[in-house]
Amino acid sequence: MPRTLTSVDALIAAGLAPEAARPGLEQVAARYAVAITPAVRALIQAPNDPIARQYVPDAAELATAPWEVDDPTADAPFTPVKGVVHRYPDRALLKPLLACPVYCRFCFRREHVGPDGGLLAPAELEAALDWFARTPMVREAILTGGDPLMLSPRRLGALLGRLAAMPHIELLRVHSRVPVAAPGLVTAALCAALPRDKPLYLCVHANHAREFSPAALAALAALHQAGVVLLGQSVLLAGVNDSVEALEALFRAMLRARVKPYYLHQLDPAPGTARFAVPVEQGRALLVALRGRISGLAWPTYVQESPGGGGKKPLGPAWDLG
Ligand SMILES: *Cc1c(COP(=O)(O)O)cnc(C)c1O
Ligand code: SF4
Repeated sequence: MPRTLTSVDALIAAGLAPEAARPGLEQVAARYAVAITPAVRALIQAPNDPIARQYVPDAAELATAPWEVDDPTADAPFTPVKGVVHRYPDRALLKPLLACPVYCRFCFRREHVGPDGGLLAPAELEAALDWFARTPMVREAILTGGDPLMLSPRRLGALLGRLAAMPHIELLRVHSRVPVAAPGLVTAALCAALPRDKPLYLCVHANHAREFSPAALAALAALHQAGVVLLGQSVLLAGVNDSVEALEALFRAMLRARVKPYYLHQLDPAPGTARFAVPVEQGRALLVALRGRISGLAWPTYVQESPGGGGKKPLGPAWDLG
């Protein structure tokens, strides 16, 4: 069985980085987690292609631009108890763990995510659930992280079940990269463990059409069969999806996988991510070019986190009726 690549040695041995890059990459790996699953490795066709670029570290990550910050979405001031972020009145995030199947080089939580960090201790998870139980204004519990589908089916099922049992919780949502990055984790046991008595939305993070492999399509079909409503979220990334053709192919691939494109995120200014930046004006122009060309179902809302914790703001584009 091929293994997940988690070290610079493994990346070089797999031909994903040249030996000459070793010193710089060792420094990057000492600061930011690295993981490339066999499923993702199989999608990489050439160095720096739109899949490789998302996951293979680069020495450019060592340079922090003046505008880049550790907590770009400003979660910290909105954290009433450990693992919870409550920024909007009717919905709150719960981060049960900070591990992911892969570590994206542009991640806005890159200073916090990693393989050995952030699993809430049992008492901390109880405190977080207690906060949801005594906060009736919250109608929607959003599991994120890290990646909640890294939990065992039993633990994830129990957690969602506890939230669904709260009378004021009307909606459950999970944000995950597992269906595309580690589709083998979407097992029959996982699907069977999901609660069915309240609506469960799963928002899949994918940035390129090729991420919708046959295995990913099977995982998404199984979740759909289990009654899960599938949404897509993407980040606009230079060298990955910053063209009309790439975005069209991505959103069409989502719809074929029963995934409704929900958000296209402007890149958050996390440290060492400048090589992925696309100007907002270019993002708007891409969306203008797509309008009419693709189904309205394929159209996401283009959003940016406002600095300082103001939340997500739609970036347009806007049209004159003319
Ligand atoms: C993004 C986010 C949500 C979800 O926002 P929607 O616009 O409903 O998708 C909720 N809470 C926090 C803190 C968020 O950052
Ligand atoms: S899967 Fe999500 S949380 Fe994890 S590294 Fe990628 S963007 Fe960050």
